[in-house]
Amino acid sequence: MRWTSPPTRREISLIIFSLTVFALSYNIDTSIRLVGLNKLQNRLGLGGGRTTIGPDGRRPLGARDSLEKMIYGDWAWDAEEIAGDGVERSQVKGVGRHGAMWVDKREVGSLTSPSLGESTVDQAFWRWGNDIPRAILRKHVPGYTVIDNVILFNGSMNIVTDENDLFPPLQHMVLSTDLNVWKTITPQQARERIGSFGGRIRGVTWMAADSSPHNSTLFALWRTYSALDSGIDADGATKLAPPRRLIYPYYGFFTDPNPEHADVTTRRQRVVNGIHPQLVKAAFPFMTVMYYEDWEDYHAMQVPFVIERLVVADRSAAQYGVKAQEPIYASAFKVDGASDYWWEPIRRSLATYFEAYGKDAPTTKVVTYVQRQTHTHGLRLSDKDHLALVDALHKLERDHGYEVHIVSNIDEEMSWTERMRAIARSSMMIGVHDSDLVDSMYMQRTPHTTLLEFFPPQTFAREQEVVASSVGIRYIAWWNDQSFSGDKLPAVAHPQDDEAVPIDVSAVISAIRQTVSHQTYLPSPAMASPSQLPPGWIAEWNEANQRYLFIETASGHTQWEEPAAPIAAPADMAPVAPSTHGGGKRRQYAAGQTQAYYAGDNASADSGYYAGGANDANLINQPAAAGGGQQLFTPGLAGENQFQAQQGGQQQPAYYQPDAGYGQQQQPQQQQQPAYGGQSGVDGLTNQFSAMGMGGGGQKQFQLNTINMLTTPPEPMELHRPPPEIRLPPGSCISPAPTAVADPSYQRLTLNAVPTTSSLLNKAKIPLALVITPYRTLDEGDEPIPLVTDVIARCRRCRMYINPYVQFIDGGNRWRCCMCNMSNEVPQMFDWDQARNQPGDRWQRAELNHSVVEFVAPTEYMVRAPQPAVYIFLIDVSHAAVQSGMVATATRALLENLDRIPDEGNITKVGIICYDVSLYFFSMAPGSTDSTMLVVSDIDDVFLPKPADLLVNLSEARPAFEALLGRIGDMFQENSIIGSALGPALQAGSKLMAPIGGKILALSSSLPSVGEGSLKNREDPKILGTSKESSLLQAANSFYKTFAIDCSRAQVTVDMFLFSSGYQDVASLANLPHYTTGQTYYYPAFNAARSEDAIKFAHEFGEVMAMPIMLECITRVRASRGLRMASFHGNFFVRSTDLLAMPTVPENQSYAIEIDIEDTLTTPFVVIQSGMLHTTCFGERRLRVITTAYPTTSNLSEVFASADQIAITTLLANKAVERSLSYKLEDARDYVFKKLVEIFVTYKSSMTAAGAGASAQLALAENLKMLPVLVLGILKNVGIRQSAQIPPDIRAYSQALLTSLPSQLLIPYLYPSFYALHTMPPEAGTVGEKGVIMPPPLPLTSERLERHGLFLIEDGQTIFLYVGRDAVPQLIMDVFDLPNYEVLRGGKTTLPVLDNPFSQRVNAIIQKTREMRRGVYYPHLYIVKEDGEPPLRLWALSALIQDRADVLPSYQQFISSVKEKVNGVGY
Ligand SMILES: [Zn+2]
Repeated sequence: MRWTSPPTRREISLIIFSLTVFALSYNIDTSIRLVGLNKLQNRLGLGGGRTTIGPDGRRPLGARDSLEKMIYGDWAWDAEEIAGDGVERSQVKGVGRHGAMWVDKREVGSLTSPSLGESTVDQAFWRWGNDIPRAILRKHVPGYTVIDNVILFNGSMNIVTDENDLFPPLQHMVLSTDLNVWKTITPQQARERIGSFGGRIRGVTWMAADSSPHNSTLFALWRTYSALDSGIDADGATKLAPPRRLIYPYYGFFTDPNPEHADVTTRRQRVVNGIHPQLVKAAFPFMTVMYYEDWEDYHAMQVPFVIERLVVADRSAAQYGVKAQEPIYASAFKVDGASDYWWEPIRRSLATYFEAYGKDAPTTKVVTYVQRQTHTHGLRLSDKDHLALVDALHKLERDHGYEVHIVSNIDEEMSWTERMRAIARSSMMIGVHDSDLVDSMYMQRTPHTTLLEFFPPQTFAREQEVVASSVGIRYIAWWNDQSFSGDKLPAVAHPQDDEAVPIDVSAVISAIRQTVSHQTYLPSPAMASPSQLPPGWIAEWNEANQRYLFIETASGHTQWEEPAAPIAAPADMAPVAPSTHGGGKRRQYAAGQTQAYYAGDNASADSGYYAGGANDANLINQPAAAGGGQQLFTPGLAGENQFQAQQGGQQQPAYYQPDAGYGQQQQPQQQQQPAYGGQSGVDGLTNQFSAMGMGGGGQKQFQLNTINMLTTPPEPMELHRPPPEIRLPPGSCISPAPTAVADPSYQRLTLNAVPTTSSLLNKAKIPLALVITPYRTLDEGDEPIPLVTDVIARCRRCRMYINPYVQFIDGGNRWRCCMCNMSNEVPQMFDWDQARNQPGDRWQRAELNHSVVEFVAPTEYMVRAPQPAVYIFLIDVSHAAVQSGMVATATRALLENLDRIPDEGNITKVGIICYDVSLYFFSMAPGSTDSTMLVVSDIDDVFLPKPADLLVNLSEARPAFEALLGRIGDMFQENSIIGSALGPALQAGSKLMAPIGGKILALSSSLPSVGEGSLKNREDPKILGTSKESSLLQAANSFYKTFAIDCSRAQVTVDMFLFSSGYQDVASLANLPHYTTGQTYYYPAFNAARSEDAIKFAHEFGEVMAMPIMLECITRVRASRGLRMASFHGNFFVRSTDLLAMPTVPENQSYAIEIDIEDTLTTPFVVIQSGMLHTTCFGERRLRVITTAYPTTSNLSEVFASADQIAITTLLANKAVERSLSYKLEDARDYVFKKLVEIFVTYKSSMTAAGAGASAQLALAENLKMLPVLVLGILKNVGIRQSAQIPPDIRAYSQALLTSLPSQLLIPYLYPSFYALHTMPPEAGTVGEKGVIMPPPLPLTSERLERHGLFLIEDGQTIFLYVGRDAVPQLIMDVFDLPNYEVLRGGKTTLPVLDNPFSQRVNAIIQKTREMRRGVYYPHLYIVKEDGEPPLRLWALSALIQDRADVLPSYQQFISSVKEKVNGVGY
């Protein structure tokens, strides 16, 4: 296209506009260029080099090319001219399609930011030299803050100030987390840390720092921000600059993690941020929404950015500002300085978008009914009431000139645009509580604009009321035929999910008519219009002028000004609804347990209320005491309790007793049920606590014991204690059987009492996560998992499987789901004993008495018939593999274990492929001992030479298979080929087992060197210990991810057995097991000539072959409403948001799942259920279901007292590895350390006398006693620890263990076992009731080593037998059969079994060490001499993690650094 005439001014503006939008959108990119790469030039004073765009937004004259000339012509302009003088951009106030509100060019305050279209990229650079920008606080209430000049740098948000007292405590602004760290620093510190220049993020930036989405965020942010312009007028005109961007530091673009490959088939689900995506576009057309990825970009840039103006909202911080019963965002409405018309710009902006304003302004009689009838859960009207209401509304339309909209708030039923257009036109909105009624704030603004909200009788929630009154909308709460408004609202009592919402339709309609047609109805105060008129005056809303006209009724005189001399308002001004219905029939107020359900943020007050009068049906209906204003309408004692509860929210909990010594048992008042009425001086928390206890019918409370970590050394026996008891309310479980509670080794939660709100969870700083080992082996004495063969009962709404935590109702004909409260029919077959063909005993059913149970899955659970198990062995037969003896060991182990391969139904198939740089296939004829080798040398495009008989039925082709295994060693004995075509071999293996799927056991002795997936030696000692080291821990080659995902789709698992004597890139290879639910086994420098090596590999290989596996498994974890599985750790592929694809599942693999609390938990307990749909290796489709239940709590001390340190550690190990991969090893260590410090800080400030001040003690809950040393164990683990000496292969293998070992193996891997053998008690090493008795474990410090002693240290992977140099000859003789210490040699060994009791006891202990844990690992045994080879000695001693080693601190040092951090944190 050519310009045929010079562009008009308007066209130029358009071009510049587009360019600038582009430049702003890519501001990240350009700023990198600007302050990143050109940093050096700037420093050198070269300045230039940025020739791409000149100050006028064009390339400099000399640099323009023909294309540019073609587009722009030979025009030039000055920077100030490009956007004109602003006239053409300013629109007439209050009109225009978009942006009617943005009428002024300059904004409030003195932001340097030019308006959109004026700034150029260059202006983002800021050299401030020594005069580092200081933060300025503009507006603040807890949780909602406007602040200028916050400096974003290198992972933290810095408030630079030397006037600390001008700022509120940091946690009142934002609760820092590791993703969003806030700091206050002095200008001096800032100069040192931040430097003298940086980028500038111009204009107004909003940040939603909540960790869970909420639909209040947008208006809370706007409310906070709008307080900067108290002059917003009734037309919505404002001087505020439009917000440019809204940042969500915690949410990614999508709900699922970033796919590791181009998975085009998965439709990704956008994250829910609490705001309808179209709303932002319509109401905030200038604003860009930025997510975690953008946020991460900024931090990754490593240059400081000054955010000119930041409006930040954080509901967790808002807790410091809200009163009981208020919604958490209520404090946003307390930011001072706001205009009564604060919301008007946004409302008009949206109304303009819908053209519901201006010339198309609707009449005042527009009513919208928001319905949610087709929702399968949640509150609804009965269908009868709904239809009657719709009819009556249509009648209003026909007979009385109303405009009526019936809209649905379900996106699938009605578009957002359609719904919002209706609302924007309306002046009255009605609907059932919970149906997005907050949208009512977009209704047109008239004096009678009203929101009418239906509740189940006796229930109420304030959320909508707070919003409505803040924007000047009248509010009516509705129970059946009763209405409440003004200051006569009911007490807060949240409705249950499926409670009935009856309405008297004729009463509703008459309320609508009264409200809408009552033109002189007194408006709400926010309208800034008369609430009190002198006698004889009325006010009438004038639609055309959008203001009141005042009329003196006697004379007919009218005026715009409000008449003077108001008198007191009549007392009966508020109620709208007919009062004749008051005091009519009322539903009996439910007593007892249900009341305790409502334990949310505001529970303290609620509980206090219920405690006072739970059975008094009248109490709740009593209006507030006249003139009360505040919602303290519960008389007498309950009111007092409520007040105390409110106070309690901001006080230290009562069990803190000043000067009480640590370590002693405290707070006896929590153990008893306090009698109501007689208490005094007991704080609110305790009240609430007791109220809950009472509601739950005497649920035992957790007791928090505080200890001082400085004087409490780690006690290894603690690790063998069970986690804090799960204390469910009585009656939660319908079965008395002990099997109704799952063993924690199947499924455990980091908190055995779940906080009711995410803010409480955030406060505790302990992550909520589930650790599952669902396919755990049975311990000795364990009964097999029961199998249900007849019927599967599931909740028809949430699909939960029936379990011991459901309730039978309706005379046993129905059961109530313990997750979503749905009432479900009991299946007919449920009470029928199919085996005996007679009525059965329901109470004997396995699924009601066992929390771990399997069901036989009927055909609807199958996408295809169950497939047989398939095993394909890929054996490296290159020179290195043969020479190390690996091939011989592997084939022998295979032969020896053929019988152990699961093959109950004689359906298992096997195949074998050998490879060096070619592939060798073997065709085995059934029934014969012959096999034929087929060589494929073309490895670029792998094909199968002959599809028949390469994959054979194990039992049919057994003779050929055995014969082949016996020959392979000889066949390749002389193989001198060096190199590995592992990738092509894997491709061939996966092709061979297609379309069935199964397990590939890949044995590899060297770095893959040819074909797909070939790798280079990237081991570089120079980068070990540096920030680049983590790159060596990531896959070098995308093949290992894409192929892994292909395998996952084809139901193929890969297990890796790695043997190289040199670098093998374990990090890349381990990706295959990682995504396919396999496992990596590593035998560095394997040499079968050492029998220990051969035994270890043969043992582990054999165990893997013999292991029963689950095939074609998909796993899903469900939980009670309000909980959401947020992120997943472990070996699998996340197929959709929460479906874990596991082609085959090995035993004893562990997975960790982080859980978000999305909604306030309102039930006394929650349920989490893992379901694994799988095929057994004998071809039966089954479901394994594991169900656990946990009490909920709104009490922080209970959260701490219920924390499970083992589960927390398991999660942290996973998180550390994940962070080391996505960031750096150092970040992983920082993360884990900071997590620990955060827990201490919050514990100190909320649970101890020290509060925010410094303390000489370091307090923590006794049940978390081992957490610090376990964290130290993570920090010192080979996979994570700071060192420049650890080969990347060793690190990568260790990381694979850290993310897959079950707790039972992981904990000793982090905190090894250490025994003194020479002084062990006489019974140790002998057989007792529970097998071999182990010696008492010692703390992991070399202080316990003695020069004459014999010690055993083991971490589940390796056993060290440490011999002191002064060990007496008799000891050496008894154990090693050698005359003295001198002749003993260190190193890998097998201990002789000698004919003396001591030798036998030591051997028994070693044997037990190898057998006592689940898993296939067979630890090597090393003899370590006190004065032996230094590397071996150092290795063994590095297991003593409480010692100082090199740069790694001792436990004492570590715990003091924790203490320093805890005391030094800027709280
Ligand atoms: Zn359900």
